[in-house]
Amino acid sequence: MNAGVIAVQGDVSEHADAVRRAAASHGVEVDVIEIREAGVVPDCDVLLMPGGESTTISRLLSEEGIDEEIRAHVAADKPLLATCAGLIVASSDANDERVATLDVLDVSVDRNAFGRQADSFEAPLSVTGLDDPFPAVFIRAPVIDEVGEGVEVLAEWDGDPVAVKQGSVVATSFHPELTADSRVHDLAFFRQAHAATPVDADAEVDA
Ligand code: GLN
Repeated sequence: MNAGVIAVQGDVSEHADAVRRAAASHGVEVDVIEIREAGVVPDCDVLLMPGGESTTISRLLSEEGIDEEIRAHVAADKPLLATCAGLIVASSDANDERVATLDVLDVSVDRNAFGRQADSFEAPLSVTGLDDPFPAVFIRAPVIDEVGEGVEVLAEWDGDPVAVKQGSVVATSFHPELTADSRVHDLAFFRQAHAATPVDADAEVDA
C-alpha cells in the first residue's frame, strides 16, 4: 500500500509512524511517501493531510498544483485522513478568506475556536467505531460549526463535532498522530468500505 503524507508543512513524520503502526497491525506492507510536489498523489492508495498551519498548507497545495490531485483522489473514493489544519484545508468553508479550502468535506469550521479557550489540552474521547476512549490531543484546534447532510459525526467534544466522516474522508479537530494510539488511522484506512486493502475487521489491533 502506498500512503502519501502531504508534507508541504506540518507534522509529517508522526503521521508516517502512525500509518506504519496501523498497517503493521494488519500485516499490510506500507510505503510512506512524503508529498511536496504534483505528480505523486495519483500513485497513492491513501492520503494523510497533517496539522500545521492551514493558510500555509492551502497556499502551497495550490501553488504546487497538488490541490486538484487531492480532489481527484477523493472523487475516486480513495481514503483521506485530515487532521487539525488538514481538516480546515479539506473543509468546504474555513470562514477565513486566507484559506483556499479543497471542499472535499462538507463541513464549515472555525479555525482557532478551541485555541481561544486553551492553547492545548488532552481529553479522552468516545469515537464511533472504537471500543475505548481515544486520547485526543487538541492544539489550537478548529471547531466544526456545521456539517452537511452526508457527513457522519464520529465524536463530539463540548457539544461540537471533532471527528467526522464523509465517504472516504475521515477528519479530526485533534491530532491522532501525536499519541502511540493508531486506532484513528486504523479507522480511516482499514475499517471502512473504502479501505485500500481489504482486511479482517476482527483482526487484533495494537493501540
Ligand atoms: N488552527 C490552526 C490553523 O488554522 C491549526 C492548528 C493545528 O493544526 N494544530 O491552521
